[in-house]
Amino acid sequence: MITVVGSLNMDLVIESPRLPAPGETILGRHFRRAPGGKGANQAYTVARMGMAGAMIGAVGDDAFGAEMVSILETAGVDATGVVRRARVASGVAMIVVDDSGQNQIVVAGGANDTLAPADITRQAALFRRSKAVVAQLETPLPTVAAALQLGRDHGALAVLNPAPLAPGSLALLRLCDWLIANENEISKLSGVEVRDVASARKAARAIKDSAACPNILITLGANGVWIDASSFTGHVPGFTVEAVDTVGAGDAFIGAFVTRLVEGAEAQEAAQFGCAAAALAVTKRGAQASIPARAEVEKVLERGKIGG
Ligand code: ADP
Repeated sequence: MITVVGSLNMDLVIESPRLPAPGETILGRHFRRAPGGKGANQAYTVARMGMAGAMIGAVGDDAFGAEMVSILETAGVDATGVVRRARVASGVAMIVVDDSGQNQIVVAGGANDTLAPADITRQAALFRRSKAVVAQLETPLPTVAAALQLGRDHGALAVLNPAPLAPGSLALLRLCDWLIANENEISKLSGVEVRDVASARKAARAIKDSAACPNILITLGANGVWIDASSFTGHVPGFTVEAVDTVGAGDAFIGAFVTRLVEGAEAQEAAQFGCAAAALAVTKRGAQASIPARAEVEKVLERGKIGG
């Protein structure tokens, strides 16, 4: 089983001809709401990959909270570790997207900000059954630290996705077995500007020299990933697709990659699986809505390509 500790946010999206100026009211076109939050997206992916998954997080005592929990449960995620806080709003992301694809996003963490180390330790039974624990940084840092530590105490693989990067993240690296981050996050963590495979290699080395994290994986968008791990070091290319919406690509990658690791796959093979799942996800709109089923991912790996 994989336990994901992290955020649940409802994304409220308005498509608009342009972004509003400060103080301005403009008429948008289409409105949609979609469940998101890095934690929920990763837990959802784990379940879609056919792996037993559990989510630990916090929602408010409101309709969005109930809906987000129900969507996870319908996908097969054990959501008994998601606490419902009274008199607190669920996490919400207000998003405006304009015709050129530019966006403006404000996130109110709400209940996510209340997830405390005690909410983690209370779920010791989940940790006992987990082969991996995955956390991001949309919940408070002490809670993330408690989750990684408790995972390790139970012999689970501790995976950190330091997104969005927060001050103090570096100290968490010594608590994780895998650091999985994108170009921006790794650039800030390492001080090496990551643009391509060569600079990714340098950045991973720099982090390994300064922090005690044995395995580092850098996601490089359409370029796939760079891995610097004890079992494999090298580039794993991405799959070529017509990108429609890259929201949640990283979350799809992580959920699928960790699933294969837990199943016993080597890092390189697990990364190919993750890249296939994430590439399929970028061909569809939305975060959780774009996550493919495992059978689709396996078909891509058999054919070696997507589409055509
Ligand atoms: P994030 O979403 O966190 O910014 P990336 O953009 O690096 O992360 O994407 C994560 C993974 O998703 C990549 O490693 C790759 O496997 C896949 N991916 C992202 N964008 C594309 C794309 N345009 N084409 C194919 N695969 C993609």
